[in-house]
Amino acid sequence: MKIAIIGGGYVGLVSGACFAEFGVSVDIYEADAAKRAMLVEGRIPIYEPGLDRLVADNAAAGRLNFPDSLEAGIAGTEAIFIAVGTPARRGDGHADLTFVFAAVEQVVKALDHPAIIVTKSTVPVGTGRKIAELAQRLRPELAIEVASNPEFLREGSAIPDFMRPDRVIVGTDSERARDVLRRLYRPLYLIETPIVFTGLETAELIKYAANGFLAMKITFINEMANLCESVGADVNDVARGIGLDGRIGRKFLHAGPGFGGSCFPKDTLALMRIAEEAGTPSQLIQSVVAVNDARKEKMAERVIAACGGTVAGKRIAVLGLAFKPETDDMREAPSIPLIRGLLAAGAEVVAFDPVAMDVAKTLLPEGVEFAADAPAALAGADALVLVTEWNEFRSLGAARLAPLMRTKIVVDLRNVFDPEAMREAGFAYYGIGRKHYGISA
Ligand code: NAD
Repeated sequence: MKIAIIGGGYVGLVSGACFAEFGVSVDIYEADAAKRAMLVEGRIPIYEPGLDRLVADNAAAGRLNFPDSLEAGIAGTEAIFIAVGTPARRGDGHADLTFVFAAVEQVVKALDHPAIIVTKSTVPVGTGRKIAELAQRLRPELAIEVASNPEFLREGSAIPDFMRPDRVIVGTDSERARDVLRRLYRPLYLIETPIVFTGLETAELIKYAANGFLAMKITFINEMANLCESVGADVNDVARGIGLDGRIGRKFLHAGPGFGGSCFPKDTLALMRIAEEAGTPSQLIQSVVAVNDARKEKMAERVIAACGGTVAGKRIAVLGLAFKPETDDMREAPSIPLIRGLLAAGAEVVAFDPVAMDVAKTLLPEGVEFAADAPAALAGADALVLVTEWNEFRSLGAARLAPLMRTKIVVDLRNVFDPEAMREAGFAYYGIGRKHYGISA
């Protein structure tokens, strides 16, 4: 079987390499010439554990190719996956489908055989139907079927997530599309992965509903963290206490600085708009978006409060810039409003992230100093703010911090450190939603 993937970003590259690993012949067409050149040379434009190896192995085996034209990529394919970006549209938060429709139009015009167009990009409900109409209008003579196959991989564990997913969702009205996707996902079927077949609209909504729910879970525990700070409870224990209930589950109950990343912020906004347009607004999702935005903006105030009400002239070490560990993705990262707020309040900010610094340099305001490693960032610092819980920061206990820092203040936005050990070592320690150690903000 041969398939093509349009878009060699996070999702396109990971799914393409994984499908190739299943034994399928995969052509990934990436429009950005610089990225395409990197891929052809075997260099990976994003940081994702294990991806370089998987791409190299499958390229060497001849199953994974990066053609320099879309026409070459889709020649002889049974299915063409659309994996281009669907960012939030400026101004109104709707998913911007410019890239999707541009790619679909290119594909439909170039096709010389019947094929299935599959959306892997996260697209609003109704998009698949519009793609089918467009294909029918442009190429009435060709049997082009449409399916929705939303992707649930997480950056940082994208390969295992793709290879052993909780489920695969396939939405289509076409028996031929179901058959092709069933054959494509056969290796997962063999390991008993549930493959859920639905209609087009249902599959499109499942993706938004999943992300909306997870974003709501994170926002819920963040609100509980605020309450913990006000009433003297501990959010880590609350999360454990409720998470052990099988109906709730333990995942996505880590209180923190608010969610960021390439998916939750834009997908919650888009879901809000989809629901409004359908005449059934979702008050829950509206609140999730508002509460999370406000939380991210308030993180700088926490640091200022921890530093005694002012950070003017103080050297603040920020550890972790990516929106979560094991990725260099900085989209909507909580570190961005935090650092902006600290700089605006007159702080000197020195930052370090194990892999996201190059990306961060293009996104953070001027004036941020970038350190070569964590100890260099901490040297002479008046406070440490831990923003992203990379494993290498977990080992930074009080004993390692004390000789480096000028003032012993730790603001731990991920509840990574042991508050008691910090206090015993003479640190002023502030976690999130922890008894005696939180700051209400
Ligand atoms: P990305 O921005 O990393 O990659 C998109 C790529 O498509 C870019 O490299 C871009 O140059 C390329 N592209 C755009 N138009 C093209 C065209 N006409 N032809 C060929 N290439 C083209 O985006 P991403 O993070 O991979 O996300 C893609 C989609 O998958 C989005 O809808 C996103 O919501 C969804 N998604 C992302 C994740 C994730 O963790 N990143 C997870 C699940 C779903």
